[in-house]
Amino acid sequence: MHRITLIAGDGIGPEVTSAARDIVLAAGAPVAFEEVAAGQRAERECGTPLPAAVFDSIARTKVALKGPTQTPFSGDYRVHVERRDVEGRTGMRSHPSVTVALRKELGLFVNVRPIKNYPSVASRYDDVDLVIFRENSEDLYSGIERMIDEGTAEAIKIISYRASERVARFALEYLRKLGRKKVTIVHKANVMRLTDGLFLKTAQETARHYPDIEVDQRVVDALCMELVMKPEQFGGLLLPNLYGDIVSDLAAGLVGGLGLAPGANFGPDCAMFEAVHGTAPDIAGQDLANPMATILSAVMMLRYLDEPAAADRVEGALVAVLQEKRQVTRDLGGNAGTRAMTSAIVGKLNGS
Ligand code: NAD
Repeated sequence: MHRITLIAGDGIGPEVTSAARDIVLAAGAPVAFEEVAAGQRAERECGTPLPAAVFDSIARTKVALKGPTQTPFSGDYRVHVERRDVEGRTGMRSHPSVTVALRKELGLFVNVRPIKNYPSVASRYDDVDLVIFRENSEDLYSGIERMIDEGTAEAIKIISYRASERVARFALEYLRKLGRKKVTIVHKANVMRLTDGLFLKTAQETARHYPDIEVDQRVVDALCMELVMKPEQFGGLLLPNLYGDIVSDLAAGLVGGLGLAPGANFGPDCAMFEAVHGTAPDIAGQDLANPMATILSAVMMLRYLDEPAAADRVEGALVAVLQEKRQVTRDLGGNAGTRAMTSAIVGKLNGS
């Protein structure tokens, strides 16, 4: 029995995580969920958006399925954490959001985001099949930002050899296991010669150890244009943190929207699975959210737990519901709610 930390999160988070939980259980996967609160609910109940109970649970389970958490749009919002982190550092640290805090404190150094077309989901393309590898620990997300004076702010972009090599090696190993043959390193080294230059050079050097994988590179702005023009030419994309964040949303748009884009964060000791999308406050609590991205994140989780049969059952039931097109959410061209789509998938798993 695998124990899994379940973080419902904010906005549509509780709706999409309960859908994924019910479907994983209906697939007969040998898992038990341990629910803990993070985000705005935890802030209200415990006075902090990231209580120690979250870290205690993940320390036990080593695996988390997370819904999105809201980041209040206020200049001085920080998430404070006091614990021994994965690198052995103690003392109070502060992070720009709950998600960034979890990724950094748990050493989740890479975010893997597969983006592909699904049957019967209308989109402008029909042959997109990308795996995005986003460096998760540094770049402009290091959280080193300050006002220099009343009219000027600065943020510091950190790129290290260590983090660049680690994410490149992970991406190349992952692609090799998938039998993929191509990776594109994405950067802006023509302008940020030292930081992005280091990322590019390190990734290229690491790739020399993987002669079976073809390596090319693109400047991030040109990549965005080419992704929109001809997405099928790309297989794996390896990006620093900020470009990875932005390009993931663009790529989700190629296949039908944010409701379809799953994700997984990996570190040396644990993994956290979460959709690319946020809390979608415009549709939260209305039974309108597409649960697919979180269900597919749970499929990635089942594969990571070495439960491929359960993963295949969940994906198969989801695809069957997509193909029938009757019980799918509004963004997928239907008019079913989150709950009805979930029940339809559970029904397929129960053989009805
Ligand atoms: P968002 O992803 O929440 O929403 C963007 C648009 O996509 C909205 O129109 C929304 O309705 C739609 N959408 C998103 N997910 C959907 C789904 N499953 N089904 C149907 N439609 C969906 O992005 P945002 O509005 O920029 O961010 C809202 C909040 O979420 C912010 O507080 C942000 O910080 C947070 N956020 C959290 C995470 C995370 O926790 N991993 C990630 C991104 C954003």
